[in-house]
Amino acid sequence: MSAVRHPEGVAANSGGPNAGGPNGGGPNGGGPNGGGKPASDLSPDILLFDSSAGAMDIARWLGERERGRVACEAELEAALRRLAERQWDLLVVDPATQGAIDVVTQARRRNRWAAVLAALAGGNPDLVQRTVEWRIDGLVFKPFERAAFVSQALTLAQRSRERRGLEQRRVLAIGAHPDDVEIACGGMLARHTAEGDLVRILVLSRGAMGGDVNIRLREAHEAAELLGGRLELGDLQDSRIPDSGATVALIARTVGDLRPTHVYTHALEDTHQDHRAVHIATLAAANGVPNVYCYQSASTTVDFTPNYYVDISAYMEAKLHAVAAYCSEGDRAGRLHPDSIKATAAYWGRFAGYKLAEPLRIIRQRRFSPEPTPG
Ligand SMILES: [Zn+2]
Repeated sequence: MSAVRHPEGVAANSGGPNAGGPNGGGPNGGGPNGGGKPASDLSPDILLFDSSAGAMDIARWLGERERGRVACEAELEAALRRLAERQWDLLVVDPATQGAIDVVTQARRRNRWAAVLAALAGGNPDLVQRTVEWRIDGLVFKPFERAAFVSQALTLAQRSRERRGLEQRRVLAIGAHPDDVEIACGGMLARHTAEGDLVRILVLSRGAMGGDVNIRLREAHEAAELLGGRLELGDLQDSRIPDSGATVALIARTVGDLRPTHVYTHALEDTHQDHRAVHIATLAAANGVPNVYCYQSASTTVDFTPNYYVDISAYMEAKLHAVAAYCSEGDRAGRLHPDSIKATAAYWGRFAGYKLAEPLRIIRQRRFSPEPTPG
């Protein structure tokens, strides 16, 4: 079955390579990479998993009432693909549909804020009992009265959206050049994405000193997409990035748009002047961000002293794929080589008891975060 849209064709989320998906538009609408309006201002995204004859009618009711995005699927594989597309606010599932438990389980894993509303036909006690054990948020019996059902569904979806707005982390990783962020913290960005966070990558220059700009930009987009992040590009001059003025303004603009809960940036202990400049500019531009960390880049010196370690043991493959996107650099024997990246992660892992880790230096870290999204 296909997606049902509001008659005006207006989707709740827009923009980004995976609008509503891992790189979607609104900060809380859509996927992990939006930025902007509070979640409660946006219409809900609802996925219906139901193979019964009236499923499309139910989807239409939900789609007509609000300018939300409603999709209806009857097949397990298609529903699982849908779940991976974006952060859904509500999953309406008919427990009698083949694979319903798999869809609910996957929704719990990938859409941790999504509410689950079970829509049952008949009152088979065994099925009701099994459904309740799924820890659903609501239960309705078919046939249901349209207005009451739609009202209940939208209330659940709205609550889920609001909870996400309060709890979802918004992550901004800043790099002076294409590939800095992937090498330094590609593992933790993949982890943020897997945990449902919004991830944005800001690259301040186009890396003209490192090769053909067009190729490097294409590689940067590919790498960001592999990490589930949305890429933003500045156009500062490679090797001449200032530590104030335009650099602070560029970073401040993104900070103002995304309102990140977490910022990752270069460390001051670095032999590259651009990296040091970005560190200084970030501290100025992100002075209101609750959590700010410095990462270890390829040119960080031995003076870099981490005091926070992120377990990336399950995300090394994702990191290596993202770094491999920069194949034009041809530096496979050096800093981009998988052996070098894995050895570095294994080295830092031992300080924290992890198999593989990325190290950070804490500039500022609040215990309770993120902050609620301002209304
Ligand atoms: Zn760099």
